[in-house]
Amino acid sequence: MKSDFMMQSKLPDVGTTIFTVMSALANEQNAINLSQGFPNFPIDTVLKDFVKKALDEEQVQYAPMPGRLDLRIAIAQKLELQHAKIFNPETEITVTAGATEAIYSIIAAVVSKGDEVLMFDPAYDCYDPSVRLNGGIPVHLKLKFPDFKIDWNEVKDKINSKTKLIMVNNPHNPAGSVWDESDLKALEDICNKYPHLLVLSDEVYEHIQFDNNHQSVLKSDLLRSRSFVTYSFGKTFHVTGWKIGYCIAPAELTVEMRKVHQFNVFCVNNTMQAALADYLIGSDSWRGIADFYNDKKALFMNGMKQSKFKPLKCEGTYFCLYDFSEISSLPDVEFAKWMTIEHKVASIPVSVFYEDKTDNKVVRFCFAKTDDMLINAIDRLCKI
Ligand code: PMP
Ligand code: GLN
Repeated sequence: MKSDFMMQSKLPDVGTTIFTVMSALANEQNAINLSQGFPNFPIDTVLKDFVKKALDEEQVQYAPMPGRLDLRIAIAQKLELQHAKIFNPETEITVTAGATEAIYSIIAAVVSKGDEVLMFDPAYDCYDPSVRLNGGIPVHLKLKFPDFKIDWNEVKDKINSKTKLIMVNNPHNPAGSVWDESDLKALEDICNKYPHLLVLSDEVYEHIQFDNNHQSVLKSDLLRSRSFVTYSFGKTFHVTGWKIGYCIAPAELTVEMRKVHQFNVFCVNNTMQAALADYLIGSDSWRGIADFYNDKKALFMNGMKQSKFKPLKCEGTYFCLYDFSEISSLPDVEFAKWMTIEHKVASIPVSVFYEDKTDNKVVRFCFAKTDDMLINAIDRLCKI
């Protein structure tokens, strides 16, 4: 019997995310999976032991809605060490279900129907749909290829009275580009000129910048007063599957964000929060992370010199981009699938992060992998 019910999709152009598609293909093909970004090495045993302790203590019921206070205090201490500034754990820090939930809750809290939101392509995949679902209008600008820097003059031209939010990502996934001081200054100038503008700065890879000189918006008091800043323990402590992150914002913005957070997830996994609080307090264990990943980057990129792939600049994140135009003229999505099936190495095609599907013949490899896995992948990639 034919039903009269017609599902009107709120996201008609959205399919299954490329991370799921490529990881599934890698598994099916028994390929080395350098596509979806996640580490494949064991985590720190100290952190593991804190998880066991939290379980032994039966820390298994709901956590407070904004996050466990011990974890928020530990985060405030971390921020003070990083920025020599005081952050109030009660009013400015919210523990979230990964940066993804933070981003959604922020957008739902501040974007109303018809509001414009500026974002830069290639843009991380959850940005655009989160804006659309809330009735906002995503306005896509392109980072300048091949350095993937923001053209701030173009930004100035695009901002108008309807622009509610500008979304930035530094270090940048998938491009691997990072900000210098002039970027902070340019954003400050824009915020000065447009007092109604808010900023969402996605800084989940803050500790994976190879010159160890991350330009957080929190460095600027002006930007701090207008920004939501998102972080992820998944990236920093190699626990992407825990889905725990946090959002830093001034008290009046945090109040609004928490109104959504409390009905979106209410609170985040208590056991893991307890473990993270123990692990973080009085420690600066994040400090060696950029050097750790720099060695992996060097191993991968040196090995790849023998291949026909051409590297793009990689200044941060655990991803690097490679031009494959000497190997194939296939569209990048087809190329990535072909390489997974025929050569057993999975990557991410970069065109999927562009609203207009710009295909620069570039794929992204994740080097957050054991040295053995990277060496095997290099061996296969050099034979193509
Ligand atoms: N933003 C960017 C740029 C990312 O790469 C990721 C990682 N997947 C996220 C946000 C989401 O982080 P999480 O896994 O903590 O939700
Ligand atoms: N952030 C990870 C990446 O860029 C994947 C996250 C996800 O699978 N949603 O690969």
